[in-house]
Amino acid sequence: MNFSNEKKSIKAGDIIMRQGEPGHAAYIIESGRVEIVLEQPGGKAQSVGTRGAGTIIGEMAIVDNAPRTATVRAIEDCELLEITADDFGRRLNAADPVLKMTTQVILTRYRDMLTRADISRDSLNWPPPESLELDYAQSSDALANIKIANEFKEALNHDEISLHYQPIINLQTGEVAGFEALMRWFHPEKGFISPGIFIPVIEESGLIVLASRWALREACLALKRIENRAGYLDRKLFMGVNFSSHDFASEDFVDGVYTTISESDVDPSQVHLEITERLLIHQPDNAKETLEMCRKAGMSIAIDDFGTGYSSLSYLHYFPIDTLKIDQSFVRDMTKNDASLELVKSIISLGKNMKMKVIAEGVEHKEEGLLLRDLGCDLAQGYYFARPAAEKDVTELVKNWDPAEKF
Ligand code: C2E
Ligand code: CA
Ligand code: CA
Repeated sequence: MNFSNEKKSIKAGDIIMRQGEPGHAAYIIESGRVEIVLEQPGGKAQSVGTRGAGTIIGEMAIVDNAPRTATVRAIEDCELLEITADDFGRRLNAADPVLKMTTQVILTRYRDMLTRADISRDSLNWPPPESLELDYAQSSDALANIKIANEFKEALNHDEISLHYQPIINLQTGEVAGFEALMRWFHPEKGFISPGIFIPVIEESGLIVLASRWALREACLALKRIENRAGYLDRKLFMGVNFSSHDFASEDFVDGVYTTISESDVDPSQVHLEITERLLIHQPDNAKETLEMCRKAGMSIAIDDFGTGYSSLSYLHYFPIDTLKIDQSFVRDMTKNDASLELVKSIISLGKNMKMKVIAEGVEHKEEGLLLRDLGCDLAQGYYFARPAAEKDVTELVKNWDPAEKF
């Protein structure tokens, strides 16, 4: 990408920006000196400082095009380098995801800080004291999240991240039909960090794209090894891999996925992309196109946490969907609560009518497994059948699996 910035020459005495006027750019002072003046109600003006070569003025414009908070006048002839808000946005988009997140947080915090300082401007308590900034830093989760995101990147490079595989059982035969790959982070000091904590953070920071690619590759290679080591199987197993809306937003998603699958030598039909309803609803056109390409390449599409997202079912016709995964909250409640049981029944018959497979998640008890089988549910996963486990343990489990044991 070509980043070029315009240079401006300003004569001594000229106004560079005027308080209250909309701002579209910040400036780096290459040479010369400027004075910052605050104009008070009633026409009073007060100089609050000067800036020289190497400093930045008007930076609020690149946060949100906010009106200028002060007037800036050249007190010597100046050379300025213009940074427009657009240019800044482009640079930020091209940046490393951690840098992007950090910068966005800092800019937002800075704006809040100045807004607060604005209130007390009558007393000319400006620029705001350092303590105000510290208050913000301490009262926000953002710093903790940045730390997690940074550590995650390191962790991925240092083998602290791994995948566990949870077997998914064919309820009609009792056999293992496939797995879901679930990410695990074992931190050397903090111990186990739950995906419920780190996935949202790495989603927000954009690191999820890197993580998903890693997970897909790892999961496909593991599937091949499990199949090779499990002894004779009369069928191919599948591997469910979770993806987020950030993955779908990346331009080369389909190419990346397809390349990874080809390199690992599994058949694309063995890969189930697990996505949520939320993703489909929020980016319908983009998602439809992406899913159709994945489908064409032979992959299977599963809707995760089905039933928790949206009441409208019309979207099911619109997207190429192969599998519905009934959310574990309904499975947990179905033996105690009629409404949940009705919902589970409806999802199973919906699946049948639409020629989709149905997987029940979170099966913890034998009676739930039996009930689901009798209701015609195709597949199930849950602690009752098997917990997510490392590749080695899952390979042993498949080798020694007795389809009659659980029923
Ligand atoms: P999910 O995709 O709905 O995954 C199923 C979760 O249910 C897993 O939690 C699994 O360990 C748990 N589970 C399985 N059987 C049972 C059961 O019988 N009872 C109960 N109570 N829970 C059961 P986990 O591994 O903590 O993952 C939580 C969530 O984090 C996942 O929910 C998924 O949304 C996300 N996640 C995990 N790994 C990845 C990943 O590689 N990529 C992405 N994008 N998200 C992931
Ligand atoms: Ca899932
Ligand atoms: Ca789920």
